[in-house]
Amino acid sequence: MHKILIVGGGAGGELTANALARLLKKEIAASEASITVIEKSAMQEFQPEYLHIAFEGENPKKIRRPTKALFTPKVKLVLDQAVSIDLKDRKVTTASSGQIDFDYIVIALGCHPNYDAVPGLRESNMDFHTSAEDAAKIYRKLKTIKTGSIIMGIAGLPYKCPPSPNESAFMLSDYLKEYKVSGASITFITPYTRFYPAENVNKEVEPIAEAQGIKINTVFNLDHVDTASKKLISMEGDEVPFDYLFLVPPHKTPTILSGSDFADKDGWVKVDKKRLTIDGYENAYAIGDVTNAPSAKTGVTVHLEAMAVANNIANGIKGISTRYIYTGRTNCPFEVGGHKATFVVGTYDTPVKDIKPSFENYMLKKMMATFYWGSVKGTYDDIFKRYFGEDYLKQEQ
Ligand SMILES: Cc1cc2nc3c(=O)[nH]c(=O)nc-3n(C[C@H](O)[C@H](O)[C@H](O)COP(=O)(O)OP(=O)(O)OC[C@H]3O[C@@H](n4cnc5c(N)ncnc54)[C@H](O)[C@@H]3O)c2cc1C
Repeated sequence: MHKILIVGGGAGGELTANALARLLKKEIAASEASITVIEKSAMQEFQPEYLHIAFEGENPKKIRRPTKALFTPKVKLVLDQAVSIDLKDRKVTTASSGQIDFDYIVIALGCHPNYDAVPGLRESNMDFHTSAEDAAKIYRKLKTIKTGSIIMGIAGLPYKCPPSPNESAFMLSDYLKEYKVSGASITFITPYTRFYPAENVNKEVEPIAEAQGIKINTVFNLDHVDTASKKLISMEGDEVPFDYLFLVPPHKTPTILSGSDFADKDGWVKVDKKRLTIDGYENAYAIGDVTNAPSAKTGVTVHLEAMAVANNIANGIKGISTRYIYTGRTNCPFEVGGHKATFVVGTYDTPVKDIKPSFENYMLKKMMATFYWGSVKGTYDDIFKRYFGEDYLKQEQ
């Protein structure tokens, strides 16, 4: 029996487990392979919609699904917290379901805000980026704002979904226009040297931000928030006063990874950026937001990584020598307000493209919210294969 264990049942865990269940249908039926997922949360949220909850008033209930409903019945779901991972002895310990051993492991534990990294941020920030519940608080707050300085942007690196701070500024700008809140201003702070770091994207989006009156404050590495005087203080010594703060916090990995020999000093799992194998271990993989790969922390990244890893594990079990790699392909939708969007499209070997914002791109993003729950189960695999072409599953040379 080949025992496959997936730790973390968010986007990456679901995509990998369900793909493996399809690829190993016969082996599972013959009790030659099993797939187990450990996930601590009984509900999952479609994270990209947090922005629409915070700035457009979308109903949080629409973006949640029970975790159990997202896995095919061939996958065993253990709803529990993983508390330690031992890659040498091949076992994971859980909070209340004991130890689970494995022959193959995929770590897909994601990442979450690291408020401790920036003193004063927790007390001052309203977070649209981390849960539907917190995002909904922002929309209620917006209804009370008539004047004042609203600061948006990046409170520290790294964070997931690179365009989300910029998109949220555009969405808030649309909101202020729609509800005729003329007394409030938006300032965008970023540690980068321009509004969006990739120049080909920036040249499309920065002029739109300027035309909308969004002030852009570059090379602003937030050191701390002075909560008493309501000021942001940067490492460069600059100060920005604020009335309202809607920043994306820096992120970190779950504490279970702190001090692991397979994670770097900051807790990111050390992988080969294309094969997603964990450095120094056999049959051990990590995908998605939790890795130290120089790829964008996005759902598209974890989708394409999951396809390569699932196929490689299945081929290993079946004795097939073909192996696949993740090409570094990104495909981040980037809303710029006015029902238009561009996409951040690149790979490890090709620079990010210049794509004009359009209504069609905006529609593609909107459609993904509907497709998402089916996509983690593989329902739209044929569409994704056509859309991503070679980047969907590229054979290792
Ligand atoms: C506001 C926002 C907008 C975004 N927009 C986009 C977008 O437009 N396009 C896009 O492609 N991506 C977008 N993303 C990014 C995308 O949602 C993530 O990159 C993706 O979910 C990463 O998948 P993952 O499996 O690595 O992590 P996750 O989906 O976060 O899953 C990690 C799972 O691990 C579980 N877990 C953690 N610790 C433990 C433990 N100790 N034991 C058991 N389980 C544990 C968690 O409960 C979670 O379910 C956005 C993200 C945000 C926040």
